[in-house]
Amino acid sequence: KHGWARFENEPDTDWSLPQNAEWAKGVIAKWEQCYVEVPLVVDGGEVGNNHSTRDCMDPSNPNVLVGRYRLAQSGDITHAVECAARDEDGWRAMTARQRQVILKKVAEELRKARMDLMGSALANCGKTLMESDPEVSEAVDFVEFYADTARSFFELPNVTATGKGVVVVVSPWNFPIAIPCGGVAAALAAGNTVILKPASDAVLPAWEFCQCFWRGGVSRKTLQFVPCSGGKEGAQLVQHPAVSAVILTGGTETALTMLRAKPDLPLSAETGGKNATIVTAMSDRDQAIKNVLHSAFSHAGQKCSATSLLLLEAEVYDDPEFRRTFVEAAESLTVGSAWDLTTKMGPLIKAPSGDLENALLTLEDGESWALMPRKLNKNDCLWSPGIKWGVKRGSYTHLTEFFGPVLGVMRFEKLHEAIAMVNQTGFGLTSGLESLDDREQVEWRAGIRAGNLYINRSTVGAIVLRQPFGGMNKSAFGPGLKAGGPNYVAQFMSFAEEEKED
Ligand code: GLU
Repeated sequence: KHGWARFENEPDTDWSLPQNAEWAKGVIAKWEQCYVEVPLVVDGGEVGNNHSTRDCMDPSNPNVLVGRYRLAQSGDITHAVECAARDEDGWRAMTARQRQVILKKVAEELRKARMDLMGSALANCGKTLMESDPEVSEAVDFVEFYADTARSFFELPNVTATGKGVVVVVSPWNFPIAIPCGGVAAALAAGNTVILKPASDAVLPAWEFCQCFWRGGVSRKTLQFVPCSGGKEGAQLVQHPAVSAVILTGGTETALTMLRAKPDLPLSAETGGKNATIVTAMSDRDQAIKNVLHSAFSHAGQKCSATSLLLLEAEVYDDPEFRRTFVEAAESLTVGSAWDLTTKMGPLIKAPSGDLENALLTLEDGESWALMPRKLNKNDCLWSPGIKWGVKRGSYTHLTEFFGPVLGVMRFEKLHEAIAMVNQTGFGLTSGLESLDDREQVEWRAGIRAGNLYINRSTVGAIVLRQPFGGMNKSAFGPGLKAGGPNYVAQFMSFAEEEKED
């Protein structure tokens, strides 16, 4: 049996315990006044004193500065990649067991840093504590699970496995702890040196968790921290010929831009989604409402995994009672500052623009607002949930990812039509079905083209090992191995088969 077969997931904070509610107040008190100066970490040292800087703002109070970071210049990028390629501290040469021991210490440091990880995600990304708490658990899981699974590959009989070399991690702002931590951990566990380019809007949480890696025993030459502009320097970093793999979590367009610039880029990417939940007449409707609202509006809908289409069978769609309950439940989600512990839906990362702004402000032919989104007080980032009724097949709302709190509702007659409507989006990340009927579940499972299928459960919050996460079609690029799955690390390793004649 592999060690990871006995893997246990890290528990989230139990908010029903009074001491944990008190602890949450402590997180807020500590981080409310924060201001963090973040250096670049290149070749083991903190550099970039004279470089240009960027401000980190608090989305809950967009005029409040919570930190500042330095931007890598072209010379830093070259320097960082060369350092990673040299691997002076011998990360690649260690045994899998040695790396596993260090990564277990990193996991321990992440556990100890739960407060600061959550505080930094609150300050810099507007994540409520309820939302960032599972992210810390997931980060711990990623580090431990990848360390365990990598070891099982390194110890395969008659195979010599090695790291591929230098891995660049380009991370998103919506899961500013778990996703970059997962990428870094996978690349390290697989025996690679790593350069992290954190999302511009999520530098503070990345800075906090990198310190956990360094405290745990990963050297500052093995893991370098290189915030840079996503334009010129970002392109230079990912296109550098000495880079063996790029792990991207971000928009589909970002992945396409990278590939247009360098078609043979060794890219492993999880990208966008236009995910639907189908609710049939055979569902538990109250449960469906609860799951869909969580899928659509947690973290203000800013998740690749979020449900942004709700497909209702005619009997449900036409039932005024269902619509009333659903809309009232959505209205009851308290929208506000993420610093307020009663907030259910916090701010957007920035004021809406492009498709999201369009989706929040306009309706297409046949659509009406079941719940009209509103901008709250003076903060351009604070929007209440929007629910569009009467979305037509093939429309803009049907086919475009908005990445925000807008849910489009469509009507269908037959399950196979609904399945076709889901697949028509061309994405394929998550998909949900609310139905208690076995035959419907079987038909749906066989027909849906998506990486993560959830029945009678929300479409967000995949758990390491239990729900390995990743998509197909426009939602994934590269080998398509799933994050949090037992094979994920293998894509960052090379394997040589040995054959011995006795
Ligand atoms: N893994 C996350 C989830 O299951 C989603 C990641 C993403 O949005 O990129 O909700």
